[in-house]
Amino acid sequence: MEENKKKKYMTQAISDEILEKLSLKNRYSFLNTNLTAILEPKEFNFLKKAQKFCMRFEKKNEVTHGPDEDVYDWIPAFGAEGYLTRSHNFEVIDVNYTDYGLTMELMRNLAVGFFDPQFSMAGGATQLAINPLLEHHENVPIRLEVLKKFVTGETPGAILITEPERGSDAVHMLTTCDAQDDGSFLLNGEKIFSTNAPKAGYVVAYATAEQNNGNTMAQFLIDTSWEGWKCERVYIPYVPKVWLGKEWFDSLRVPKDYVLGGVGKGREHLFEGLVPERIGIAIDCIAKSWNAIAYAAIYVNNRKQFDQMILKFQGVGFLLTDLWARLTNVTLGLLMFCKNYDSKMEKFGGELPRNISQALVASASQFKYHVAKLTEEICYESANLMGGAGLCDNTLMTDLVNISRIAEIIGGSRQIQNYVMSMALRQVYKMSGI
Ligand SMILES: Cc1cc2nc3c(=O)[nH]c(=O)nc-3n(C[C@H](O)[C@H](O)[C@H](O)COP(=O)(O)OP(=O)(O)OC[C@H]3O[C@@H](n4cnc5c(N)ncnc54)[C@H](O)[C@@H]3O)c2cc1C
Repeated sequence: MEENKKKKYMTQAISDEILEKLSLKNRYSFLNTNLTAILEPKEFNFLKKAQKFCMRFEKKNEVTHGPDEDVYDWIPAFGAEGYLTRSHNFEVIDVNYTDYGLTMELMRNLAVGFFDPQFSMAGGATQLAINPLLEHHENVPIRLEVLKKFVTGETPGAILITEPERGSDAVHMLTTCDAQDDGSFLLNGEKIFSTNAPKAGYVVAYATAEQNNGNTMAQFLIDTSWEGWKCERVYIPYVPKVWLGKEWFDSLRVPKDYVLGGVGKGREHLFEGLVPERIGIAIDCIAKSWNAIAYAAIYVNNRKQFDQMILKFQGVGFLLTDLWARLTNVTLGLLMFCKNYDSKMEKFGGELPRNISQALVASASQFKYHVAKLTEEICYESANLMGGAGLCDNTLMTDLVNISRIAEIIGGSRQIQNYVMSMALRQVYKMSGI
């Protein structure tokens, strides 16, 4: 009955009874039942805590996930409770999470991604700005201050790699940085598709001392209130609530304290961010896929046609079980990767040796490639199994179908992952001594 009171944002197609059953609470229950035998108590407890927060937040704020809501409004509340990121303990900024690491990040994302996929995507982009600040703060006060603002939700962050003329070919940048005598830099050029940038108080950006020369790249922290920064929204219809930016740097002066990596350091910093970025996208896709399967599983167990629940028709049941089996298997694989990564991070005091982090490049591409493809199929087919209701009915299905279609582009397109993997395959062949 409680769910009946929930506000709706479009004319309802299916019965109250079924719509009620598709609640966040029930979708979490379906997920948790699937994970009972897989997760350890510490992981499960954190997952349930995060789920509880999301359920309360949805109810208290009467969130409908309708078109008028601004997902950026929710960032401070999630940040205050520690649900924006759990990738690290953030001891350096006195945050000190006890539940942290890649495995906990997977748990957090399962909870938050179920709550709202577009909100989760915006959070993922902030994470991309958090990583370089954590790696390269060197105890400079302004860097720590900004890091804390990102982690606690005071402002979203963004990462600016892509340029209008340089997408996949990210290391041959055109945006320039000119070193000044006082250690500052002047930046000139254009960036595009920067998730969160129009809403971000600070961003992390790359530029190069010499155009098209990857060896002269550098990395900067930018305060978006500075003169010389201009940003317009790039509207992406698949994710209408996420704000992406196109930016112009017009002799934008970056003071010395904001230079995260000087000339010659940029490419290395960019590559070090790719493994967590690709694994982050894979984790996000897993959350979307489970959300879609949970919707479909609840629906087909309740919807009747020809006087039978539709799960019992082979065309429905066998399709859903095929998706379910593949998702379960890849979830197990990703969980294994996360745990392995966490234990290595612990063993090596938070900094992986070069040979290990290089080996992870192939795994990160494999997961990103595989899961991005799978999530598109799962979200589309799950919506399909819900018939008309999957297209229109006060659920997150439309969001899931749309957002799943961008996973193959972001963080390096499908073909670029293939390219990275083929180089890694060559490396592995050579190392095999055949
Ligand atoms: C929703 C969204 C969010 C994004 N967020 C960010 C962000 O936060 N920060 C950021 O910096 N960027 C972001 N991007 C940019 C994204 O990383 C790029 O769009 C992506 O890298 C592809 O670049 P491009 O669009 O220029 O396509 P192009 O590089 O022009 O590619 C076009 C096509 O050519 C193929 N192709 C290109 N080179 C090769 C090759 N060598 N071999 C085979 N095929 C090739 C590609 O696979 C693709 O199919 C975002 C993009 C989107 C859509």
